[in-house]
Amino acid sequence: MIMKKIDAILDKAYNEQILSEAEVKFLLDLRDKKEISALFLTARDLRQRYFGKKLFLYGFVYFSTYCRNECVFCYYRASNSAGRRYRITVAQAVESACGLADSGVHLIDLTMGEDSFFLKCESGLKKFETLVTQVKSNTNLPIMISPGLLPEEYLTVLSGAGADWYACYQETHNRELFSRLRPGQDYDRRFLAKQHAKKIGLLIEEGILTGVGESGNDIAMSMNNMHDIGAQQVRVMSFNPQKGTPMSGWFSPDRLQELQIIAVMRLIFPEKLIPASLDIDGVKNLKKRLDAGANVITSFIPPFSGLSGVSQIDLDINEGNRTVDGVLRVIDESGLEIARASEYLQWIGTEKKKAGKKNDVCETVV
Ligand code: SF4
Repeated sequence: MIMKKIDAILDKAYNEQILSEAEVKFLLDLRDKKEISALFLTARDLRQRYFGKKLFLYGFVYFSTYCRNECVFCYYRASNSAGRRYRITVAQAVESACGLADSGVHLIDLTMGEDSFFLKCESGLKKFETLVTQVKSNTNLPIMISPGLLPEEYLTVLSGAGADWYACYQETHNRELFSRLRPGQDYDRRFLAKQHAKKIGLLIEEGILTGVGESGNDIAMSMNNMHDIGAQQVRVMSFNPQKGTPMSGWFSPDRLQELQIIAVMRLIFPEKLIPASLDIDGVKNLKKRLDAGANVITSFIPPFSGLSGVSQIDLDINEGNRTVDGVLRVIDESGLEIARASEYLQWIGTEKKKAGKKNDVCETVV
């Protein structure tokens, strides 16, 4: 009986019909191995339809770990004296990015906390702009910026400097939970920044955390919000407790929850990018994330570069497991292959064109 219901929902997803919130929640609540395997299989079939065996790889340059905010889940929150702080120079960022480019990644993700050094004055914006321009021109790769909430003029300048993506995670779309996770921050400003980014031609990544007190309804609501905002990349990460933070005593959730969310995301966003992040467990569980339908591996960090991760500040970095060579075996075991650089460029070019057409339509309607 239950398998019939699952098959009906998976058939609907396979035929790319919109799933209801109740259906999404039903899939997230599956606990039986056979039932979950059927979900993962459909997710992989849909990935195959749009991407074949191709995987994209993202290099990660965390160029400043300073932050003015106090997110309760984050190691880099302003008041965490245990937090490892650094701000690297443009030359150092370029060197790391070039190393990543040489190793074969398709994109450089330039990440920082909300560092007042870059956000407070015009010279900070100038420095950020230089960073984007220099990394782009030296690597010849697309650039994602992940700097937290940015004012509109920053987004415009950084887009002009060559940024292709703006990643800014709400982490939850339950406003009450948001205010507990991100105290003092404005839910709407964060969401509106992404809408503005999209309007000026940036691709956007939206994401959620799981294991932070969210309900199944919250996750289903997040899927709707991600759909409505038109994110080209959607991600979920399992919460890892961080030393020196108010949530240091929390448990990290069973990874099955994240895997099911990845798979359901693939059903809802079959043609979009869904990351398997090395930042959560290092290379461990990477295959499971790929088997659940992910098609991007994120957070490659060069060993001995002195650069940190976000959720796992140093896991697997100096061991060389967060390098392209370090994941080749897993990619092979997953029956996948690394896409050519031109294939990634083609994908983002097509998405930009589609987004541009939608913006034109919106402006005509307005
Ligand atoms: S999640 Fe981002 S904005 Fe929040 S404290 Fe950490 S670095 Fe700052």
